[in-house]
Amino acid sequence: MQKKSDIKQLPRRSVLAGAVALGASAATAKSIFSPTAATADSTLNGWRFCANCFELFLVDFTVDQSLCPRTRGPHQAAGWTFRLTYNLSPAGTGESGNTQASWRHCYRCAALYWGPGALRCPAGGSHGYIHPSGYPRQFLLPHDIGEPARMQHQWRYCFKCSALFYNGYAYKGQYGLCPYDYIYGHTAAGYDFAIPVSAYT
Ligand SMILES: [Zn+2]
Ligand SMILES: [Zn+2]
Ligand SMILES: [Zn+2]
Repeated sequence: MQKKSDIKQLPRRSVLAGAVALGASAATAKSIFSPTAATADSTLNGWRFCANCFELFLVDFTVDQSLCPRTRGPHQAAGWTFRLTYNLSPAGTGESGNTQASWRHCYRCAALYWGPGALRCPAGGSHGYIHPSGYPRQFLLPHDIGEPARMQHQWRYCFKCSALFYNGYAYKGQYGLCPYDYIYGHTAAGYDFAIPVSAYT
């Protein structure tokens, strides 16, 4: 995949330089992954489920830290690959009856979290996102639409740490590990999100 090899060749730099690289990567992702040129929104592929903390996190992004609250090492990808829609507009743009806006990628731990309620990050403090020039990527998540083809539902917002996590296991004691609650794990609130699957591998 061209995008991956390009990104891997970029050196890891400071957060400031990283913000520039992030913008470049987003542009690359847009050119490669946009379904059609007519849509205003872009998509970013490469989101994965972490087998240790159950969060959705972004893999292989040059400036990303990947920090799992369970292992304190990088998140461990398992299962399918997901593709999220985003825009570069003011917070809340694109929100509708079955779509929630304002989801962000945390540059400190790589998790997807809900921006307006940014809570505890395993890296310490709250989750945060990089502000390149203009508006940073704002991911749009479909919710309460059941489970259409090529999507997986039962992804939920954790009200303790604000990250998105998978809550679909039959054994409901398996909630991953939450950086705010090491005993009971992530705890779901609100919508039932359905996340687009890009690869069943
Ligand atoms: Zn993890
Ligand atoms: Zn974080
Ligand atoms: Zn949590």
